[in-house]
Amino acid sequence: MEGVIRTAKVKLDVPSERCDDLHQTKNQFLHCANITSEWAWKHPNDYCVTSKQKAENALYDQLRNETELTANLVQKGIRRAIEATKSGVARLKKQERTSQPHFDAWSVVYDKRSATFHRDHVSLSTVNGRVECDYVIPDDPEETPIGEYLLNEDYEFRMSTLQYDRSTESFYLHAKMRRTERDEKEQSTTTFDDAKHRTVLGVDLNVDGSLAVTSTGVFIGNADEMNHRRREFEKTRGSMHQTGTRSAHLSIQSMNDREHRWMQDELHRASNRILEEAHEHDCTHIAFENLTDIRKRMAGAKRFHAWAFRRLYQYVEYKAEMIGIEVEQVSPAYTSQRCSSCGFTHETNRQSKHQFVCQKCEYELNADYNASKNIGHKLLKRLRSGQKSSSGGAPCQCALKSGTLNLNGDFYASVESTAEGESTDKPTTSVVGN
Ligand SMILES: [Zn+2]
Repeated sequence: MEGVIRTAKVKLDVPSERCDDLHQTKNQFLHCANITSEWAWKHPNDYCVTSKQKAENALYDQLRNETELTANLVQKGIRRAIEATKSGVARLKKQERTSQPHFDAWSVVYDKRSATFHRDHVSLSTVNGRVECDYVIPDDPEETPIGEYLLNEDYEFRMSTLQYDRSTESFYLHAKMRRTERDEKEQSTTTFDDAKHRTVLGVDLNVDGSLAVTSTGVFIGNADEMNHRRREFEKTRGSMHQTGTRSAHLSIQSMNDREHRWMQDELHRASNRILEEAHEHDCTHIAFENLTDIRKRMAGAKRFHAWAFRRLYQYVEYKAEMIGIEVEQVSPAYTSQRCSSCGFTHETNRQSKHQFVCQKCEYELNADYNASKNIGHKLLKRLRSGQKSSSGGAPCQCALKSGTLNLNGDFYASVESTAEGESTDKPTTSVVGN
């Protein structure tokens, strides 16, 4: 039973530098459809091909070579043309006028393999990795399809299309929504009651590229610039030491101060940006990787980086405390190898320093962004298992429910020991951006 499908059209907030990736994706998607259509349409000389399997067998390899699309989008392009060919054949049978299908309308088909649908944004596969687009939700969505279907947890996403309006230069997701089965729904409402709203912002720290990357996809600070300034300071200091005069010695002192001040300013700015992001997404928690032994774990990490990370963490921690947000550290194990979309964990997922491609579901994104989502996910798991394990009246449940989560060492231990018992989905508990 497919159930009734509703369509909600929502405008997408596409990062301007990624618009071209979507246009290219559309061009290549239509190329797949048109090549297929040409191949399948044999009227009036022969029967048209209406088997998706036959078309895929004949064309898949060729189209995969000719385009930069993922396997799933190539397949969708082929299928779209075969669907149209089938309709054409039906018209021919009814003696109606028709011709070989041609595709030039701006449209790309996305399903759960080529897109990840969320209530507030969608992640779309493109010719150049994934792009994350926020929905532009109107002020009063209640009476509109957006409020009734898109934002409604009783509806789930089905195969949808991405379209483009030339007159306004805007991208739209035509989201197909299907009402979920009743028993699924009841389950989700019962867990809703005992789940407290908790939202986690994951933060990944780096020795190069961006200093910090959040699970909401914000790249903060410039680690390369910090490294560069650090090296320049070292160089100047080295040459001054050689002159050995008293005035040179004083300059070193002032330079150390200047260096120190600049670094601290930079770290303050970064911490403010992380807090802004947490505040904007109504987060209750911020998750960092465990910072001990950072130099052993992280290739290229210097004592300077360990200092900078600890300092940034401290800034975030004390500023967060003032606005009632908890800051936690989680184990860094596998955060760079795990796919934040499907959970598949393997070292080959990490294609290069900054590129992550899941070998199972083909999810492609910036490697640090992927890691930040996993860091958020780890804390989330810990928080969920903590709430579940404490149902016997242990103090951690009260702390969680009251919203003043004040974890001490003992609480960590009791939560960790029951972590594997965790499996229920709590709809109000989420990693922002995941
Ligand atoms: Zn995956």
